[in-house]
Amino acid sequence: MNSILHFGSSVSEAFSAQEWANRAYDIDGIENKYDKFIFGNKGANLAFIAELGFPVPPGFIIPIGHELLNSQAKYENILYEAVDKLGQASKKIIGDAKAIMLLSVRSGSPYSMPGMMDTILNIGINRDLFRSMLMHYTDKVWIYDCYQRFLYAYSVLVYGLSADKVIGLVKHHAKTIEDREHIVKKYENIIMQNVGSIYDDAPIVQLSKAIASIAASWANERAVYYRKMHDIDDKMGTAVIVQNMVFGNKGSNSATGVIFSRDPIYGSKKPMGEYIINAQGEDIVSGTKTPYAINSSSNYSLQHTMPQNYNELLQCVAALEKLYGDMQDVEFTIEDGRLWILQTRAGKRTPHASIKIAVDMVNDGIINEKQALLSINPNIVDKILYRQFKYTDEKYLRGHGLPASHGAAVGVVALSAEYVQECAKQGKSTILVRNNTSPEDLCGMHMAEGILTMHGGSTSHAAVVARAMGKPCIVGAKHVEIDLIQACIYLNGDRINQGEYISIDGDSGAIYSTALELAQSKALPELDIIMNWASKYKTIKVFANADCAEDAINAIRYGAEGIGLCRTEHMFFNVERLSLMRAMIISKNVDAKKHYLEQLYVMQVADFSSLFSIMHNKTVTIRLLDPPLHEFLPNDDIEIEHLANNMGIAKDALCIMISSLRESNAMLGKRGCRIGILHPEIYEMQIRAIFQAFCESKSECKLDIMIPFTIMKHEIAIIKGMIKDIASQICTIYDKNEIPYKIGTMIEIPRAALLAYELAPEVDFFSFGTNDLTQTTMGLSRDDVSEMIRHYVDNGLFTFDPFSSIDVEGVGILIKHAISNGNSANASLTTGICGEHGADPESIKFFISIGVDYISCSPNRIPIALLSAAQCAINRHNLGVKYHSQFPLEL
Ligand code: PEP
Ligand code: MG
Repeated sequence: MNSILHFGSSVSEAFSAQEWANRAYDIDGIENKYDKFIFGNKGANLAFIAELGFPVPPGFIIPIGHELLNSQAKYENILYEAVDKLGQASKKIIGDAKAIMLLSVRSGSPYSMPGMMDTILNIGINRDLFRSMLMHYTDKVWIYDCYQRFLYAYSVLVYGLSADKVIGLVKHHAKTIEDREHIVKKYENIIMQNVGSIYDDAPIVQLSKAIASIAASWANERAVYYRKMHDIDDKMGTAVIVQNMVFGNKGSNSATGVIFSRDPIYGSKKPMGEYIINAQGEDIVSGTKTPYAINSSSNYSLQHTMPQNYNELLQCVAALEKLYGDMQDVEFTIEDGRLWILQTRAGKRTPHASIKIAVDMVNDGIINEKQALLSINPNIVDKILYRQFKYTDEKYLRGHGLPASHGAAVGVVALSAEYVQECAKQGKSTILVRNNTSPEDLCGMHMAEGILTMHGGSTSHAAVVARAMGKPCIVGAKHVEIDLIQACIYLNGDRINQGEYISIDGDSGAIYSTALELAQSKALPELDIIMNWASKYKTIKVFANADCAEDAINAIRYGAEGIGLCRTEHMFFNVERLSLMRAMIISKNVDAKKHYLEQLYVMQVADFSSLFSIMHNKTVTIRLLDPPLHEFLPNDDIEIEHLANNMGIAKDALCIMISSLRESNAMLGKRGCRIGILHPEIYEMQIRAIFQAFCESKSECKLDIMIPFTIMKHEIAIIKGMIKDIASQICTIYDKNEIPYKIGTMIEIPRAALLAYELAPEVDFFSFGTNDLTQTTMGLSRDDVSEMIRHYVDNGLFTFDPFSSIDVEGVGILIKHAISNGNSANASLTTGICGEHGADPESIKFFISIGVDYISCSPNRIPIALLSAAQCAINRHNLGVKYHSQFPLEL
């Protein structure tokens, strides 16, 4: 068992502002010697920076898994010892009103989970001590404030009283000492009625109960939900930090605040933060009081009210940023004009800020390119590509709040998390509108498109959590009123009922009383820089799944090295082509089919030519027709009638033909290369179109032709024969010696994966269609599986959706087997992934570990794939870089 760790400096020992600022800059290359998996992230950081001379109030950390966190009485002697040592460091005595030692008890897990676990402040004050403190100290207001806050937190978190019973008393605005005395009495009575006289614990007993309660908050509902959402290991547990209180509520020369070393919304280099004079930290984090900005021209800014502390704070956060090589989120308190640091951690930020900060920090020489790449969570990089309004309409503008997290969102007003969930079931998007959010709203925030709150600043719970989720969010929208009884809101007087649409812009803070149209956002120049760096370090190729010119242009724009999958069926989905396709399918004989195929041929040549020209000298992988033919046929009556008229046949007869083409389990039936074998004229048309387009476009692209859904080498042999014959015919027409191309097959059925050694010698490449391979391996239809998956995930049968993240133990092992057997049978075989898993960071990590040569995904997700691939390459070479991303990828 790890032992308790003491840290921090007493007032007399702490360096002066100038002393520590000089020292703190000399910090290059110092590694944190405390392990966050033992002491928690917050504790490890506090102990570390305290040792470097940063002004940290003294305290001790009870490590994760320590007995003190589970049982109270048995280990009280250890606690006595720890408190005694702390008392010596701080020159204070627990339980002694003359030198009162009040303590904060906070959680600290290895990964920061803002607001998800509990904190109790002012431990060490009880009824008697409170009364004697009133006699020993002149600052009566401060003593009342501490006692009131203690009573509230302790009765709720230790005695389990409902917060509603006591919260009103904390918020009550007391004007005089008599008012306060009255409130305290009320508090004591309520608690006494509910708990009995034992409520008045001795300070050390308070401490031991508080420690147990804070440790137990690891398992509270919101913390569990947060961990699930962020994939944090549930078994990790939390440390508990006991620390001397420093008081921001000691009058006008005291304050509390939060500062980010850079702007967490846009990422600019200007530190940004908020503070409140004469308050304690919980006031700012909970969003219950609206704070002032730290740096502004306003007379209320910290810059104006406490200029010396302000300068000291800026030096401090700059030093911390340099130390950790990452943007820091710092909690501070100023007690009687003296600055104290209560926490430093990597700051949550918007995707936009994440990218800009990483690039700026490299330019500033704080981190290197690899560290910058590791500092960004790949799952957020595509977020900046989304969510802007196509246009705004000022006639619907109903005012502004504080922009807290990027992007635009449109949804119906939802006044509760429950309503958000109800709408989600109906597929309706929502904007969660609350006075201020509390962690209980987390599930609603997660499911809503955007969040709008009336109170709080940009470091309130709503803002911090929304930013981490990459959700548009506006806070502090004071002109918005919520009427829960009427279930509506008023936007500058305009009534909008719950269930009616609004739009919010997290970039400008604007609120609109209508559903505006959304468009993609403009690209951030720093994203290109990150993508260039990622391309430099990654070791596999990243291709795009693209089947039209627009996709291909986007693919190149985002850094794709080619097209890894062109789904040719998508080329038949416009009205004109669809009717030709339908006519071809229901034609009775081959000649009739060819009549329509000729017309489609012309179109396919044009499609392929344009792709080849755009991709210039890059890879273009074209998949021959894959879906079952009946998927192209109409279902609804009007469309059937329309087709019957076009074809000059009776509607009834057409209905019979259509139903004869239907299959009970179509996705396992006549699809993929089976179409080419049963209806060679269709594949022949496509192959001819590919080669003709290639010759006509004069493109230098690397042409790959891909045969879908194979299960045996004979299928490949048949289609290969077709491809070769047509290639030589086209060579003759265009007077060429040869057309360079490669042939590959998709591996989408377990049989193909198992027989990889037999298929591999027939082809140049394997492309794993992990969507179908998951479907066929699991026996789950990918088209109607969502409800079942949700049930499995909710009930812990799956820990994730295997259609989003690869099922390593099942599907993954098949892929691994196919790659190693395929490579032994054909040394020049290349292998890649083209299912949705190609843009899932966790899956990419696995694919790289088993040796794939490329991944291919939709154009908008290319940034995720590139960055994930680069992170894997950097981690794989184990270059000893520092990891700053919350979930570093490790192979
Ligand atoms: C796949 O099955 O993974 C794949 C890429 O093909 P499609 O999604 O078109 O079936
Ligand atoms: Mg497929």
